[in-house]
Amino acid sequence: METNGKRRVNFILKRKLKFYTKEGLKILGMIGIAFGFVSGMLCAKYKPVYAVTLGNENVGYIDNKEEFEQKVDDLIVNYSSKNVDSVELNKTPSYELKFVDRDEKTNEQEIIIAMQKDVTITYKYYEIALDDEIVDSVDKKEDAENIVNELKTAHEDLNITVNEKVTQNAEEIKTSEMEVAKSNITSIVEENENTIANVEGIKIACLPVTGTITSRYAESSSIRSSNHTGLDIAAPSGTDIQVVADGKVTFASYNGSYGNLVKVEHGNGVETWYAHTSKMYVSVGQEVKAGDIIAAVGSTGNSTGPHLHLEIRINGNHVNPQNYLYN
Ligand SMILES: [Zn+2]
Repeated sequence: METNGKRRVNFILKRKLKFYTKEGLKILGMIGIAFGFVSGMLCAKYKPVYAVTLGNENVGYIDNKEEFEQKVDDLIVNYSSKNVDSVELNKTPSYELKFVDRDEKTNEQEIIIAMQKDVTITYKYYEIALDDEIVDSVDKKEDAENIVNELKTAHEDLNITVNEKVTQNAEEIKTSEMEVAKSNITSIVEENENTIANVEGIKIACLPVTGTITSRYAESSSIRSSNHTGLDIAAPSGTDIQVVADGKVTFASYNGSYGNLVKVEHGNGVETWYAHTSKMYVSVGQEVKAGDIIAAVGSTGNSTGPHLHLEIRINGNHVNPQNYLYN
């Protein structure tokens, strides 16, 4: 009997448990439905976004953080253009997940534009120097090395170097295309090789005549009223006179004691004068190149025999030609 009684109690307990479980599931189901309903309502009204903050300033909302960060990388940080070495955001963005009204607009594009404007860009370029004097610059290291190697092959012992320049000031960059830089530097190298003297930056490429110096600058002489303003170089009459540097003829006629006088201006206030000539082959306004034959040695004007009287003038004042030539 005892066993029967126990069984019955067990049976009742089991039934009760079944009942409570059923009820419990019913309640859970109802809670689930209610939750679904409420969240459905909330989703219809609100959406999740990321609020973006730039240096304590809320600048707006974005939908997708990963996508946004990828765009920031692609459009700003990894932006590569010539000379750009690195781009750094001045303000690092921070993100906060938020639920906002569905009607609230996200403004990813605007935020990116604002971030693009607030960056520190570091640029790199390469200066090329001849004897430590910068002659040109290029954008890429390979271009600079290419120029240096080519010039060193053609001109041994050339003191040509490359300096890497880093700047945050884009205005500072005045680079040339590689081929342009190469040809610029080549002509400077060739000009330097052909330069025998430099007067105020004007490159003197040749002597006007070869001959014997018969009177030096500033010497006094019985045939002159004042000290000598040039250098006399004796040579046979008719000997070619070469202009010593590129320039423009400013005077070519008979001028008292100078006789037939040719004056050439070279820029930077530098002029050269060729006096006592027997013939003049140029006229005023003519452009001349260093080495051009402009006149012939003679003895016109105040002269005791065929010679070239050479003057170098800087801003109108005669200087000693032997400071530069025939020294
Ligand atoms: Zn003289």
